[in-house]
Amino acid sequence: MKNDCIFCAMAAGEIPCFKIREDGDVIACLDINPFSRGHTLVIPKRHSTGLLDTDDATLAAVIADVKKIAAHLKEKLGADGFNVLQNNGAAAGQSVSHLHFHIIPRRNGDPLVFENGKGDMEELKALADAIRM
Ligand code: 5GP
Ligand code: ZN
Repeated sequence: MKNDCIFCAMAAGEIPCFKIREDGDVIACLDINPFSRGHTLVIPKRHSTGLLDTDDATLAAVIADVKKIAAHLKEKLGADGFNVLQNNGAAAGQSVSHLHFHIIPRRNGDPLVFENGKGDMEELKALADAIRM
């Protein structure tokens, strides 16, 4: 547990949250500033900052829970779909430095939008050549 980490404190039950599930490794609670009705955070109890410093076993456990909880929310809330979001670093909008996945239930025609640009084929080809693994 990391001092001054709000999600560690929530996982330890030291500060309240609207918890909807808890198992050995993970808690899930409603986001206090939701993007949509039922917006849920899935949070491993053990502290890590984000995707890159989390061990693979923990990630496997968390993503399995994300799947289970997303299916449950979709059914219970009658959602038509959902987004899974996981931010890494302030540049990506991460505001709490403890790994978490957002599950954002979606309804047909709801107003949330993620706008993308139009790709330049030459640039995309050069980039793919430059970063291929
Ligand atoms: P991030 O931007 O780091 O990916 O997401 C952090 C999320 O945590 C935000 O959506 C924010 O609304 C939520 N959040 C911040 N503080 C609290 C809190 O004390 N309780 C709960 N349930 N959610 C929080
Ligand atoms: Zn933490």
